[in-house]
Amino acid sequence: MGIMLGKKTRVVIIGTGAVGSTTAYTLLLRNRVDELVLMDVNQKKAIGDALDMNHGMPFLGQAKVWAGTYEDCKDADIIIITAGAAQRPGETRTELLKRNEAIFESIVTEVLKHNTTGILLIASNPVDLMSYLTWRKSGWPVNRVIGSGTLLDSARFRYLIGEELNLDPRSVHAHIIGEHGDSELPVWSLANIAGGEVQLNDEQKEKIFVGTRDAAYSIIEAKGATYYAIALALDRICTAILSDEGAVLNVSTLLQDYHGVSDVYIGVPCVVDRNGVREVLDLPLSEEEVALLHKSADKLKGLIATLESQ
Ligand code: NAD
Repeated sequence: MGIMLGKKTRVVIIGTGAVGSTTAYTLLLRNRVDELVLMDVNQKKAIGDALDMNHGMPFLGQAKVWAGTYEDCKDADIIIITAGAAQRPGETRTELLKRNEAIFESIVTEVLKHNTTGILLIASNPVDLMSYLTWRKSGWPVNRVIGSGTLLDSARFRYLIGEELNLDPRSVHAHIIGEHGDSELPVWSLANIAGGEVQLNDEQKEKIFVGTRDAAYSIIEAKGATYYAIALALDRICTAILSDEGAVLNVSTLLQDYHGVSDVYIGVPCVVDRNGVREVLDLPLSEEEVALLHKSADKLKGLIATLESQ
C-alpha cells in the first residue's frame, strides 16, 4: 500500500463520542487532512459535529468534513475506531469486553467491504485486545492494524518527569510499555535526558509512575472522560503515517518473540511510517522489566483465552 501523490488525504473516525470528536477537531486544527468523515451509530451526533466543525472553516482552511457512511471508507488512508459501549451498572469487565467485541465485529465487517488498503487505528478500550481482535477479524497484515497502545501513557510519564525536574517534557525520553492499563510498566532503566540518567530517587519515581498509571482514573473521576491528550496522541500517529515519518511511537502491535513474548498486541516502541508499523524496536530491558512485561502480556492473553472460551 502507499499513499498516492496528489490524492486527497482522507481519515474516517468511527465513534464520534468524546474521543472521536476531539480527535476530529485536533486533526482539523493542525491541518492534517483534506477530508474528514465522521461516523457514529448515533448519526445525529455525527451530523451535529460535522456541522459545528464546518462552521469553523472560515477560521481554519480547506478541509471537507461530513457525517458519512461506511461507503466513505473507500478511499480512506486511515480509519480510526473510537467507538465503544460504556460499562453498565453491575456489568463485569469481561461482559463489557464481549459487548465491545460484538460492536467491533460489525464495524470491521462493514469497513472491509469498502476498504482493503488503508490503516486501521484503534483507540477503544481495552485497546490492546480490541486491536488484536480487529487484526484477527480483518485478516490484514499486522503493520496496518495499530492500537494507540501506551503512547498516551508515555506522554503522561514524560510530562510528570518533566514537571518534577522543571524540564520541557519534549526533552524527556522515557517509555511506558505493556498493556494500556493497570499492568503497564515504566522503563526506568532507559529513561534519559540528553543521554544521561534521570536524576530521581525511588520515592519520586514511584509517585511519577503511579500518577501515570492512574491518570485516567483521576480524570474520569473529575470530569467523566479523557479526550484531549488521547486526541493529540492519535493525531501524532496519523501524522507519522500520512507524512511517512518513520517516527518512534509506543503503539500497540503484535509481538513475536519480543523478550520471549508472542501472539499478543501490546504497547512497545515501533517505527511508524506510511505503511503503519514498519518495525518493532528491541529495547534492552532489565531483568525486572522483562518479568513485568511478561506479566502484562499474560494478563492480556488470559483475557483473550476467556473471550475465546465463551
Ligand atoms: P463515548 O461514549 O463518548 O463515545 C463512544 C461513541 O461510540 C458513542 O458516541 C457511541 O454512540 C459510539 N458507538 C457505539 N457503538 C457504535 C457503533 N457500532 N458504530 C459507531 N459508533 C458507535 O466514549 P469516549 O469517551 O469517546 O471513549 C471512546 C473509547 O475510547 C472508549 O473505549 C474509551 O475507553 C477509549 N479511550 C481510549 C484511550 C486510549 O488511550 N486508548 C483514551 C481515552 C479513551
